[in-house]
Amino acid sequence: MKMIESDVIIVGAGPVGCVLANKISEDLKLNCLILEKRNHIAGNCYDTYNSKGLLYHKYGPHYLRFKNRNTLKYLSKFTKWIPGNYIVKSVVDNKLYPIPINLETLENFFNKKFRNKKEVLAFINKKKVKIKNPKNFEEYVLSKLGKEIYEKFYKNYTIKQWGMSPKRLSKELAGRLPIRMNRNPYYVKEKLRFMPKKGFTNMFSNMVKNKRIKIRLNCDFYKIKKEIKYNNFLIYTGEPDRYFNYKYGKLDWRSLIFKFNTYKKKKIQKFVQYNYPNEHKFTRTVEIKHVTKQKSNYTVISKEFPTSKGEPYYPISNKRNVSLFKKYQKLILKENKKNVFFEGRLAKYKYFNTDEVIESALNLFKKLKIMHKTKKRCKNSY
Ligand code: UDP
Repeated sequence: MKMIESDVIIVGAGPVGCVLANKISEDLKLNCLILEKRNHIAGNCYDTYNSKGLLYHKYGPHYLRFKNRNTLKYLSKFTKWIPGNYIVKSVVDNKLYPIPINLETLENFFNKKFRNKKEVLAFINKKKVKIKNPKNFEEYVLSKLGKEIYEKFYKNYTIKQWGMSPKRLSKELAGRLPIRMNRNPYYVKEKLRFMPKKGFTNMFSNMVKNKRIKIRLNCDFYKIKKEIKYNNFLIYTGEPDRYFNYKYGKLDWRSLIFKFNTYKKKKIQKFVQYNYPNEHKFTRTVEIKHVTKQKSNYTVISKEFPTSKGEPYYPISNKRNVSLFKKYQKLILKENKKNVFFEGRLAKYKYFNTDEVIESALNLFKKLKIMHKTKKRCKNSY
């Protein structure tokens, strides 16, 4: 059998695969071969131009923001930036409300005026359901904002998005959305919000421009697994349960179906994203032009329909999956000893944002670098 050989083999050309190929080829001067089953790089960050020349996010909107300035600094080698002022509204009873919930949402929803934080806190304290130690998504939101807001803004969106009762979901998931007692309108918590000027695909393709990096598109790792030979490292960014042949059972994932429509209109929505918690089968409509800032007489709107079938997008953080993944983690530790490393949202079964996944890949690189320089095998890496 003819072997497919490289110093480093990377399964998946998403953000993790591109970052690690970039660092390993540049800093360690090792050859990297990336195997990608899709026909493009950049994973779910992939954006591309439609027939009207409009840039759209094929796998849903990616609102890039940074917790850590170093991650921004690293990515700045591959792209220029435009500001990312992501503003989302929730459509409730045919009115647009700021989401995440902020002081203005509460004023408009309850038909009140609050002069300061103290007044709004006093008001919302009376609405809160007294739950000492909220244990799940529902209890968390009820304990912070009370029944009316929970039922109109969170409950049905969450049931639609995850296909299960919010009682079965973790409170950490609810914590993704900030709750604000001020008028900050931005969707994300982080102040460093930027979009790659020419898009994500452009940024990631700049990252892998190195003669030591080879990319095989339309290449399913599982079909050629037996032919693979890595001299230094294997980096795996796919689903962990699949890697181990579903030894302990299947992890659950949530997926999305996107429907795109192009219109001959400059803009349709006033803001990039409208959430529909209570009506329709889709959760949100996105007009990405608001953040790509493209100038065109056309615009694209996407609708997102959650589904349990299809490609894995979201890990589902409930008790079953958390404990099942812990079992797989033990197997991953054994693989680490063979210089096989699992990284990214899928492989770590973790609801990472894009900046977090890049930061995590850069941290893995630091470990690989030490191992490579000291020629030591990895003891305990996960
Ligand atoms: N969520 C909600 N109402 C909203 C928006 C979000 O109840 O209008 C909940 C929902 O459960 C969702 C979670 O908050 O899955 C996290 O939302 P986020 O927008 O961060 O999800 P993503 O953009 O990653 O799909």
